[in-house]
Amino acid sequence: PELVNQIAAGEVIERPASVVKELVENSIDAGARRVEVDIEDGGARLIRVRDDGGGIEPDDLPLAITSHATSKIASFDDLERVGTLGFRGEALPSIASVSRFALMSRTAGGDAAWRIEVDGGRPLLPKPAQHPVGTVVEVRDLFYNVPARRKFLRAERTEFGYIDELIKSIALARAEVEFRLANNGKPLRLLRPAHGEADIQRRIGDVLGGDFVERSLRVDHAGAGLRLHGWVGLPTASRSQADQQYFHVNGRLVRDRLVAHAVRQAYADVLFHGRHPAFVLFLELDPALVDVNVHPAKHEVRFRESRLVHDFLYRTLDEALSGTRA
Ligand code: ADP
Ligand code: MG
Repeated sequence: PELVNQIAAGEVIERPASVVKELVENSIDAGARRVEVDIEDGGARLIRVRDDGGGIEPDDLPLAITSHATSKIASFDDLERVGTLGFRGEALPSIASVSRFALMSRTAGGDAAWRIEVDGGRPLLPKPAQHPVGTVVEVRDLFYNVPARRKFLRAERTEFGYIDELIKSIALARAEVEFRLANNGKPLRLLRPAHGEADIQRRIGDVLGGDFVERSLRVDHAGAGLRLHGWVGLPTASRSQADQQYFHVNGRLVRDRLVAHAVRQAYADVLFHGRHPAFVLFLELDPALVDVNVHPAKHEVRFRESRLVHDFLYRTLDEALSGTRA
């Protein structure tokens, strides 16, 4: 089973940022309002994610780190309409198979916290511990037992950059959650939660830089069972912003060619002074109409009705941007 987990890890866990993604998504699925991420050495030495979510019952702890033990789908049917971010039950066992892993958790009803460690892929018995309600996962020495992978980790700055970028994209989609990010004990980001619509703009500014919202148009349109909302960069914004393109589908960051094409086409209709428009967009649709199960790392999606989605995106953005035409 260790080999199986390590192979699964090869698919899901490419680098420290992949670990952070899985852990933070678990925190969000657990209803966390506050997520703290501590990194050492770009994640090569330590990745620690602490949340104030619902926690894990002591009896479920060994299960959580066992292959394909997800609490999020009960049947194959559920796969069709996953509302949560995780659903494969692969992340924790995969991560634990390629690191020195520890998890501590306490539920609101529980009178103690429990800690479980995984040593070279073997789970040790849970022990009582001290911890407030919520969960903390510690991942040390990522890939220490897979030298070929460890060798491919990039410089600390680069790996930390990926982590920071990931936290930003999640923080955009989950404005109601507080995020903290530190590297080597130095706090580098504190993203306060948004309270209400007006405050969401403040939060987006905190994540992307103060003038993002001023340089953008607000979009919010629903129809045909789809809703697109967010901000698109004004065509007159002179700077190219390839690094400020965020598209979320049902709360999940996505890189999708169909989406990119629809956006490009909408901008092609207006006089746009850059090459890469900035945007933060959220598409919401019935989860049954989108397949998020295309790739384990979950960056890709497949729309059941891709033509409909493409045209909806194009028309909505074209309409918004046409107001800016001279
Ligand atoms: P998945 O998220 O696909 O279900 P994971 O391997 O990421 O699988 O997690 C396994 C299980 O462990 C989850 O289904 C959940 O029940 C539990 N779990 C993991 N992280 C947390 C957390 N931070 N808070 C509460 N429960 C968690
Ligand atoms: Mg998960």
